[in-house]
Amino acid sequence: MHPIQSFLRLCLLLAVACWSLAGTPVLAGPAAGFDTGQRVLALGPFAETLEDTTKSLDLAALSGGSHPWQPLGSGSLNPGFSASAWWLRVQVRNGGTRVLNALLDTGTPLVDYLDLHVVRADGSVQTIATGDRRPFATRPMDTRTFVLPLALAPGESAWIYLRQSTWDGLHEVIRLQLWNAQDYPEQLQFETLLFGLYFGTLGAILLYNLFLYLSTRERGFMLYLLYVTLFFVWSFAFRGYGLQYWWPQSPTLNNQALPVVSSLCYISFGLFALEYLKVKRDAPRWMYRANCTGILLNGFAMIPALFGAYALAFACAVPTGAFMLAMALLTGSLLWRRGSRPARYFMLAFTLLALGVMLYYVQMLGWVSAGPLTEYGLQAGSSLEVLLLALGLADQMNTLKADKLKAEQQARAAQLALNTQLSIEVKQRTEELELANRRLGELAITDELTGAFNRRHFNQIFEAEFAAHRRQKTPFAFCMIDIDQFKPYNDLCGHQAGDEVLRQISQCLQEQLRRSKDCLFRLGGEEFAILLCMDQPPEKSLPYMEQLRQSIERLALPHPGNSTGVVTASFGLLTLDGASQLERSEDAYARADALLYQAKAAGRNCVMHANN
Ligand code: GH3
Ligand code: MG
Ligand code: MG
Repeated sequence: MHPIQSFLRLCLLLAVACWSLAGTPVLAGPAAGFDTGQRVLALGPFAETLEDTTKSLDLAALSGGSHPWQPLGSGSLNPGFSASAWWLRVQVRNGGTRVLNALLDTGTPLVDYLDLHVVRADGSVQTIATGDRRPFATRPMDTRTFVLPLALAPGESAWIYLRQSTWDGLHEVIRLQLWNAQDYPEQLQFETLLFGLYFGTLGAILLYNLFLYLSTRERGFMLYLLYVTLFFVWSFAFRGYGLQYWWPQSPTLNNQALPVVSSLCYISFGLFALEYLKVKRDAPRWMYRANCTGILLNGFAMIPALFGAYALAFACAVPTGAFMLAMALLTGSLLWRRGSRPARYFMLAFTLLALGVMLYYVQMLGWVSAGPLTEYGLQAGSSLEVLLLALGLADQMNTLKADKLKAEQQARAAQLALNTQLSIEVKQRTEELELANRRLGELAITDELTGAFNRRHFNQIFEAEFAAHRRQKTPFAFCMIDIDQFKPYNDLCGHQAGDEVLRQISQCLQEQLRRSKDCLFRLGGEEFAILLCMDQPPEKSLPYMEQLRQSIERLALPHPGNSTGVVTASFGLLTLDGASQLERSEDAYARADALLYQAKAAGRNCVMHANN
């Protein structure tokens, strides 16, 4: 049974049981008069029923002796779970003036053993033993339900006795109808068309989702496919087409298939609901467990069916199916309240299915008169359910796609931000590196103690400037400076004080360098050198150096070992004009050094100058 169907069927059985307990037996109704011009007649109101608890009665036993026949009351015979055989009898009379060719339709394809007897006034008896536990060939007509042809002369009446017994105690609902044989094919055609549409729809959805599954490999599509396939097989068998077309020689297989496929249908439905509603992820843990338990229980409910216990399998399937259904619906409504889109489709689909099933059973109970809506409500409901779920799946795919797109966009934006951040950081690092390099370069050419350029830098610059002077015939001015009596200063005042003097003199000289291209070098020890910019006339260099010498003296750094009492320095200044014949830088250096030596010899604290 379908989950909803099983649940409703249980309700139906209970309702019918209460109904028959409450009902008061009344006398048998009149014979069912049928006119040749009539299309169809429901025989329920004219029928009587008899329970044969020992299953021993036969037609002969019934015609002798009195038996407690009860009017059927409702439109259908529905004993439900019962170990007895059930009889139903009705007298039919041709109320017309022509021969009546009628067809007696039981309305169900599922009765296990059905014995039909037509007893005429002349005592003749026509018997047909059929049922879905017997091969399809036992039926007088090739139809999915049990249909018996009946011919009555004008004014003739006949008793129809129908005996229903079961394999192991579960009876089907029988709703007898007498059809005019002329009108029946039209009805059959209409019904077949509707069922064709129904199974065609299911088949198309199946194929469509099969292709979707093959291209997406989504688990949801696979479980949905499984569910719809099983539902298709179940519906086909339940409606009697299985025995008619698939396995006419195998009534046992037909009966086994129904409960087994029904249980499998439950299980696949449960698995699909878990996947589709994302129960494990989105619902509370207990709810997930309850749904899993429902699936497991339905697995167990299938076991009796595998051993041929049809009634027991059905008795098990009703509560387990109802439990699983209740859980699925509870989960669906909770998730819907939490805003889940799939849950909305799920709930809508099942409401439609439940409506269809309800209409079907309300009609089976005889509470409303049969019409296309009640007769085919189940088909309409289930096909809409299947369609809506397929739509829901497609919607889920779309949502997934949109989420994926959004995630990709976010990833791209994050990547872009990262790249920008990276390039900013790279730029920062490069600048820091350049600064560090510059600093390193400066350190490489700077004297650590005094901050003047060091000897190494002097060698490079001196060489280059001298070469430029030679090439361009520009003036060249170079002065060597040596602190006077510095050794005694160190001896008297200490080496650290000597260092401080070196620093102060260097600072004093640097502060007075006029142009950016004038450079101060520390050549080593207490010896300094100044390279002057070429764009001033050489004769201006002497007063400039004299001024520097005086500024050292003016610092007035006390020097107990010097004759002046303060720190002084001697200067050897060499100036070369454009016409100078001095060719090598070493000669220029030696000349300046000689001038410094002369300054020392001349009593120190003076500037010796020569122009070449
Ligand atoms: P003169 O007037 O003839 O130049 O006499 P002087 O003592 O200055 O000459 P000398 O060349 O004999 O002495 C140089 C002294 O400079 C020797 C050393 O103690 C001192 N000196 C060299 N380098 C440093 C230094 O880095 N720090 C200090 N505190 N003293 C240094
Ligand atoms: Mg010296
Ligand atoms: Mg010295």
